[in-house]
Amino acid sequence: MKLNRESFNDRPKNEIKAVVTEVHKGIFRVLCEYGEITAKLKGSYYHKNDANDHLPVVGDNVWVIFNRDGDSLITDIGKRKSFFARTDFSGHSAGYVKTMKKQVLAANFDTVFILTSMNKEFSLKRIERYLAAALSAKAEAVIILTKADLSDDVKIYTDLVTAHFGSIPCFAISSKTGYGFDTLQKYLVKDKVIIFLGSSGVGKSSLVNRLVSDEIMTVSEIREKDSRGRHTTSHRQLIRLDCGVMIIDTPGMRELGLWDADIGLHELFSDIEEWLSLCRFRDCTHQHEPGCMIQKKLSEGVLSTDRWQRFMSMQKENEWGKMKAPLVKR
Ligand code: GDP
Ligand code: ZN
Repeated sequence: MKLNRESFNDRPKNEIKAVVTEVHKGIFRVLCEYGEITAKLKGSYYHKNDANDHLPVVGDNVWVIFNRDGDSLITDIGKRKSFFARTDFSGHSAGYVKTMKKQVLAANFDTVFILTSMNKEFSLKRIERYLAAALSAKAEAVIILTKADLSDDVKIYTDLVTAHFGSIPCFAISSKTGYGFDTLQKYLVKDKVIIFLGSSGVGKSSLVNRLVSDEIMTVSEIREKDSRGRHTTSHRQLIRLDCGVMIIDTPGMRELGLWDADIGLHELFSDIEEWLSLCRFRDCTHQHEPGCMIQKKLSEGVLSTDRWQRFMSMQKENEWGKMKAPLVKR
């Protein structure tokens, strides 16, 4: 198991390295040289780091004092090389948000599998949103179109995705038949960590199950007719396959916010950003001004109204998140 913190070299002898695989209230499951064990976080850690985002999350590299006879003790958390956070709006009162916290959900992944199924759930907008998050987390993104066995025309979907997100690898698979699984092999590399993003019901557990080949997670029942799903996995999980790749499947990622997704937006909409800089007026509202490059691209059909609106709404959400963050009352 590789840990990415330099200071890990000079830790006390009785501490061992581990990776967090599950988070429950006050108790963690970690994977270490003794297998998967339960551990508690050292009491002083809660005081040292009052911020919620410093508590261990799935994927975190931690230092543990091993206890053969009971819960082991997590003494420290390694630096995160990547993470996903959710913007947590809570305490709505008299029309304003009292608290807005960044809640880290998972850490230290190399690759993001963005899963979407080829039925009514399919949405370019959702893929784009997850892509922005993946790119801003500086992770490699892969789009996985699931349930190929239920689709009459897989190519329609893969073509659509390729047309929109050309440079991002996209694969169609079926966890039922095994279709497309050969294409995923190149991502199943020892010590790499893959995280799954996707709405409930798209087939995340089924893909993990197929990859592990025995059932670790409960696959929920779903009524395919109305594309509605419901997840039964109640906590975040990290699973290590025999080949050494680790997979994080976190139900919480469904409500993923665009916390500080600037970099992701920048990569997804670089053409639009360039056009914005070419409007004649610096304070152009892109609605009626002469010399507006956005209006020009819209009228030429180079930029679709859809995409322009998605850009605006994602940017608004992102700006709003950043503006509000420092105003959070604690
Ligand atoms: P999750 O919520 O994303 O983890 O989705 P699940 O893996 O629980 O799958 C939701 C439903 O879709 C279940 O009823 C699965 O049997 C079904 N499902 C998942 N993958 C496939 C697939 O490749 N083909 C078909 N036909 N059904 C699938
Ligand atoms: Zn303009």
